Amino acid sequence: MKVLKFGGTSVGSAQRMKEVAKIVCESKHNIVVLSAMSGTTNQLVEIADYLYKKNPTGAMEIINRLENSYYPVVEELFSSEEYKQKGKELIQTFFNFLRSFTSLSDTFTLFEEKIILAQGELISTNLFNNYLNEIGKNSVLLPALEFVKTDKNGEPDTQFIQEELAKQLEKQPNADIYITQGYICRNFYGEIDNLQRGGSDYTASLLGAAIKAEEIQIWTDIDGMHNNDPRFVENTRPIPFLNFEEAAELAYFGAKILHPTCILPAKLGNIPVRLLNTLEPEAAGTLISNKSKQNVIEAVAAKDGITAIKIKSGRMLLAYGFLRKIFEIFENYQTSIDMITTSEVGVSLTIDNTKHLTEIVNDLKKFGTVTVDSDMVIICVVGDLTYTNVGFQAKVLNAMSEVPIRMVSYGGSNYNISMLIQKEDKVKALNLLSEKLFN
Ligand code: ASP
Ligand code: MG
Repeated sequence: MKVLKFGGTSVGSAQRMKEVAKIVCESKHNIVVLSAMSGTTNQLVEIADYLYKKNPTGAMEIINRLENSYYPVVEELFSSEEYKQKGKELIQTFFNFLRSFTSLSDTFTLFEEKIILAQGELISTNLFNNYLNEIGKNSVLLPALEFVKTDKNGEPDTQFIQEELAKQLEKQPNADIYITQGYICRNFYGEIDNLQRGGSDYTASLLGAAIKAEEIQIWTDIDGMHNNDPRFVENTRPIPFLNFEEAAELAYFGAKILHPTCILPAKLGNIPVRLLNTLEPEAAGTLISNKSKQNVIEAVAAKDGITAIKIKSGRMLLAYGFLRKIFEIFENYQTSIDMITTSEVGVSLTIDNTKHLTEIVNDLKKFGTVTVDSDMVIICVVGDLTYTNVGFQAKVLNAMSEVPIRMVSYGGSNYNISMLIQKEDKVKALNLLSEKLFN
């Protein structure tokens, strides 16, 4: 059994849904995970936002607009009157439900917001499943809200998922295809919740691990992870194979194609993840597994919007416990640190979430002189960068010889070197690295 996940743009129109149907009907007994149609989750976020601000008219406007965007989809997707009618009623039901939130007298809370956010995936999977039924496929809709659950800490309850998904599959052993919702789940208290924006990849990976799938396929509209950012560098190419560590670095540091949370369940379950392109289903894409290749630098990626913070202090000299105190401040403000470098008299680190920057800087000032550089970029080079692989770091730094580098981080794993540079040098750096490492 495989798990095939299709993102929002892959199911973004009736035409695209039909193409996805062709792909998923090529083999049997797989689980298909769908996102909401592209744009829908953003609109649902907007609706919730208006309701938080006690503006039901604003919410209603978006609900109506979004509803009206679904009727042409229904019209084009289905061919028989019976299924068109069914589709229309389905949309009406979902949107009447959304409208019911605009007349709530109680205050609008996170609880209602999560329910609203869940509707996008429920709509797309219902439409898609009906379409498969209309064209004569024995497909079955599996309700993710019955088997995807998080625990007390908000982490996926993998045992629950495994047991409950197995029960669902046993109920319908003869289905050709199983369709289910990405992203949505229930939390520890049984309330409707989600796995954070972009979380459908995570669902696919959790389900893949739960059924010990032969493979997890993530279908998007690019032919795999590329060895550099195609928006800034010409002639990039898809990387045929990556190991999970390399893919995790790339997913985190730039390549938007795969959500980083998706890596761990697949890695632990030793389940290969294949990135494929709905627009070009025959293309090989990228295969991510636990296998490593030696002596190659695979890819370069960039992450924007980085803030660097330097804390310089004489008190750090020969002292212990200094870093713990620094880290504690970031922990207190739930801000994660990406890169870090230290010297005997100072430490530099980077964050991408600046929500609590002012408070963090204030607290850090108790420990030393603080400097902040905003709008920086992390350039991440990924491949076999084991320290005994002599000369590979030099190649990377040589390629960057014309670019001012604010920080370098190497040795955190065997698979990457990260460099922090100014925003204005990003395109140049990406191109120099491509030229010197791949050509
Ligand atoms: N629909 C959700 C989002 O837009 C989940 C996903 O697409 O992965 O974030
Ligand atoms: Mg996505």
